[in-house]
Amino acid sequence: MGKLIDGKSISENIKENIRNDVKTFMIKPCLAVIQIGDDEASNIYIKAKERACNDTGIYFKHIKYDANVLEKEVINKIIELNNDEYVSGILLQLPIPSNLNEQRIINHITSGKDVDGLNDINVGRLTNGKDGMVPCTALGIIELLKANEVEIAGKNVCIVGRSKLVGRPLVSLFLAENATITVCHSKTNNLSEFTKNADILVVATGHKWLIGKNDIKEGAVVIDVGVTREGNKIYGDVNTDEVLKKVSLITPSVGGVGPMTVAMLLSNTIKSYKKMNKNI
Ligand code: NAP
Repeated sequence: MGKLIDGKSISENIKENIRNDVKTFMIKPCLAVIQIGDDEASNIYIKAKERACNDTGIYFKHIKYDANVLEKEVINKIIELNNDEYVSGILLQLPIPSNLNEQRIINHITSGKDVDGLNDINVGRLTNGKDGMVPCTALGIIELLKANEVEIAGKNVCIVGRSKLVGRPLVSLFLAENATITVCHSKTNNLSEFTKNADILVVATGHKWLIGKNDIKEGAVVIDVGVTREGNKIYGDVNTDEVLKKVSLITPSVGGVGPMTVAMLLSNTIKSYKKMNKNI
């Protein structure tokens, strides 16, 4: 019988360390979140980020614009936040309305404060194996594996999904850990042939129960990133109940990857704060 990975308790440990760190700071770190429009899921995620900041002593600044805001106005705000010595992290909550150029806006966030790790400078640094800001979900997945003492070097890793938030940064992170990596996506033929070969399988597609017991290797470690909301219920990309007997470790669709993403956001904010305040 496989074991569920407890992302909630691992993230609580990380938050506890951050809380203790922040207590020693003269000035509070500050995370600024920019929201454009009123996406329902974004409202939930922003609330979770706000709670986590309050919980750890990080000041939370929520800047909200109507969906019809001009790109220039958002960029001017970003420039103001870049120059604000009290702001340690800046994040553009995604998705934003499609008439705005997401990457152009993100590229205006100064790389040190880009706590989502999505601007071109940070993506380049990660790809080149240099220190920088790394996207929170990808970072959280590696932390989850390490906290559970999962050996990564030499293992076959299959990543299903190639987004800039999850799949792409994970390639660089797993390469740095000396894994052998296969990346699958919506155009992959015979997906199961690849997933069945994985010692570590990461699934990030947003397709409820895309992966079942016939798609998994006996004893695999499975990280289920996907979130599909149906009414009050949340489903992952993996049918957890069906595969539980076959895997060695698996993240639950609630309390697995999600809390780690938020914990890593706080961790990136502290990383930026410490760089900005080298003397503390
Ligand atoms: P995304 O940008 O929509 O990317 C989805 C990826 O899945 C794409 O690369 C797509 O392929 C691939 N894909 C879609 N259908 C597929 C299929 N049938 N077979 C194989 N690959 C398929 O999404 P994302 O931002 O990476 O997020 C993915 C999921 O993870 C979502 O449910 C999201 O809510 C969740 N998520 C959760 C957290 C968390 O903290 N818990 C964080 C981030 C994301 P193409 O590239 O070919 O289109």
